[in-house]
Amino acid sequence: MKIALIGCGFFARNQMHAWAQIDGVELVALCDMDSARLTDAARDFGVTRTYTDAAAMFAEGGFDVVDIATTVHSHRPLVEMAARAGVHVICQKPFALNMADARAMVQAVEATGKTLMIHENFRWQSAIRAAIDALRSGAIGTPFFGRVSFRSGYDVFAGQPYLAEGKRFIIEDLGIHVLDIARALFGDVDRITATTRRINPSINGEDVATMLLAHQGGVTSVVDCSYATQRSPETFPESLLEIDGTEGTLRLDAGYRLTVNGTARDVSPPVLDWAERPWHNIQESVLLIQQHFVDCLRAGREPETSGRDNLQTFGLVEAAYLSATEARTVAMAEI
Ligand code: NAD
Repeated sequence: MKIALIGCGFFARNQMHAWAQIDGVELVALCDMDSARLTDAARDFGVTRTYTDAAAMFAEGGFDVVDIATTVHSHRPLVEMAARAGVHVICQKPFALNMADARAMVQAVEATGKTLMIHENFRWQSAIRAAIDALRSGAIGTPFFGRVSFRSGYDVFAGQPYLAEGKRFIIEDLGIHVLDIARALFGDVDRITATTRRINPSINGEDVATMLLAHQGGVTSVVDCSYATQRSPETFPESLLEIDGTEGTLRLDAGYRLTVNGTARDVSPPVLDWAERPWHNIQESVLLIQQHFVDCLRAGREPETSGRDNLQTFGLVEAAYLSATEARTVAMAEI
């Protein structure tokens, strides 16, 4: 399976390391508008075909999959180029700038019969996966309450300075992952109520969000995120879980400690040889989601976080901002 990757920035290096580790896959071409970044990545990952213009890369072809690792503004034009080229697509989150673009992107790829997966990797973190597996096995009966919580004071702006600039911040960048974990655990959502705050005065967007979700299957969940929480010890980038079911409880506590019905076990992720703490949890999930994509293509299955599936997660982001702005509960049917 031949892969081309667009956008050789901060996060894409994880994706390149993961491709190098997956059997039967070869990274054959790289593209970035920034020629210095492009040259560095090509040297570090031994890729000889390089482009500063994505259209030129698609015109030459010679790959089965394009992995789009750029920031959101370029997602729609690049996904549409990929659809015209008739290749499978992985696109980083956030999927799009708005729902209309996201729907158009799903349609463009579906019309070609190829697969579109959103790189929505948090549900692939191995600790989260252990919780999902326990819940789906019925270990605590039928869940009725959940809390998915991400609270941190980690300086994300150092590696990703663009995060301080946008009018939207934590729901769009981080909350999107935490909302997707809630969907993976409790299913799709009927309605959502959200509040937001900006605590850090030197950024433009909100850095605290608290969301209440009514899931279609009857679970009520709280999804809370903060980058303004001075916590000791710091838990970045762990998502913590509290789930109550008719037959028991599940907790995923700080330090990757999973407790199901009173029995605790360590579900710490491995530190892959190219990974570094504290990012190793996220880095492992990149390998796992990319392996899932390859497995799905080989088996002719739809990936869990396909473009169509991700319309629901992205819709929750839009609904949460609408709820916070208008101070009301938003039904997903409105989005
Ligand atoms: P970045 O700015 O460091 O890198 C983006 C790169 O894309 C830059 O080098 C830029 O020159 C290039 N680029 C942009 N438009 C292009 C185009 N049209 N053609 C060619 N190259 C283009 O950004 P980043 O921090 O690596 O983030 C990239 C994406 O990854 C964002 O959407 C972000 O939300 C996402 N991200 C995801 C996770 C995760 O866990 N899934 C973590 C961090 C970032």
